[in-house]
Amino acid sequence: MKNITILGSTGSIGVSTLEIISAHPDRFRIVAMTAGKNLDLFARQIKQFAPRIAVVASAQDVPRLKELCSGLDVTILGGVEGLIAAATADETEMVVAAIVGAAGLIPTAAAIRARKDIALANKEILVTAGHLFMNLVAEFGVRLFPVDSEHSAIFQSIEGHRCEDIHKIILTASGGPFLHTPAEQLPAVTVRDALNHPNWNMGKKISIDSATMMNKGLEVIEARWLFNTPVDKIQVNIHPQSIIHSMVEYIDGCVIAQLGTPDMKAPIAYALAYPERITTGVKQLDLTSFSGLTFFNPDHDKFRCLQLAYRAIRSGESMPAVMNAANEIAVAEFLDGRIGFTQIAETIERTMNAHSAHNLQSIEEVLKADLWGRETAREICREMVH
Ligand code: NAD
Ligand code: MG
Repeated sequence: MKNITILGSTGSIGVSTLEIISAHPDRFRIVAMTAGKNLDLFARQIKQFAPRIAVVASAQDVPRLKELCSGLDVTILGGVEGLIAAATADETEMVVAAIVGAAGLIPTAAAIRARKDIALANKEILVTAGHLFMNLVAEFGVRLFPVDSEHSAIFQSIEGHRCEDIHKIILTASGGPFLHTPAEQLPAVTVRDALNHPNWNMGKKISIDSATMMNKGLEVIEARWLFNTPVDKIQVNIHPQSIIHSMVEYIDGCVIAQLGTPDMKAPIAYALAYPERITTGVKQLDLTSFSGLTFFNPDHDKFRCLQLAYRAIRSGESMPAVMNAANEIAVAEFLDGRIGFTQIAETIERTMNAHSAHNLQSIEEVLKADLWGRETAREICREMVH
């Protein structure tokens, strides 16, 4: 029996994780769960999974959650202290990091320091603080299992091989909802168009990131840290069918890829049960039902965010954290209807132009760079609106 904490149980990844766990009650037990705002769903999850600890991100929501959970035997906490308590609970063996954004940094770092293995969905953690996290993982001797489908594919394609034998990592990208939209139409696309991803059903922030292709940029940085591979060896291929989830090309010319029906339950289950494989309910792949699998290079001029991410990781130090912060603000402003779609990239680029990268020695320093990026991006968005 593996004891699990889920950070972000009410999100898209959180809900899929709970589906896997409820299908395997003999294998997994929930010790603690955390959520942001969706208290009604959270209360239903608490009733079903009976965690010892349940945490809401805002301490102000604790009374309401207590009311919704009256009569249940659960300790309800709130705020960052609560998130840390959930991440470090004594019985917990593995923490599923499924919060969105840099908000996941503190509880996930606490989990590693408490020697919990990590199933990592929250890619912004490695984008903002990759070197610090990989050092923490090594120092505390924990295992870090990727949940992101591309990184799970790479992880599966690398098993039994040596990182030094890698020639190239090829991250596949669906291209998102605007793959075939002419660049000149992008300024006028709506929030609803941007949320309408062709192959994956995900949280709002990552759906917008997929539409701008910043998601792939974040994944390039995530791969750089997870697989200790120079960014110049990480390449992006558009693959609209999302069947090959990524590939690794070795120095001998052989390429190993991982394929499957696009469903996050597969990579989640692999991270939870590693090294075993368990049933997921994911539809088995029938390759004969596809008329063809296609691959081509991304249009870097149309999807500027992908280029900005390469620029940020090449510049290194605090630049990826600032880029990520600007992206989080710009995406929120777009979702709230205050800026247009192409102004997301513009906000990020202007924020990066205003930043001089500097070394980051601690999570606190990462959070300072994050705050600077947020404030600068907010200011830039305000100027653009006026
Ligand atoms: P989501 O928005 O659906 O869920 C996010 C979860 O985090 C929710 O439980 C929410 O309540 C919680 N949360 C949000 N802000 C918080 C805060 N400030 N403090 C504490 N909790 C907070 O997001 P998602 O789509 O499930 O994505 C989660 C992470 O996984 C993201 O980093 C995303 O990039 C990554 N990811 C998601 C998918 C996917 O298919 N959804 C695939 C690969 C990677
Ligand atoms: Mg992905």
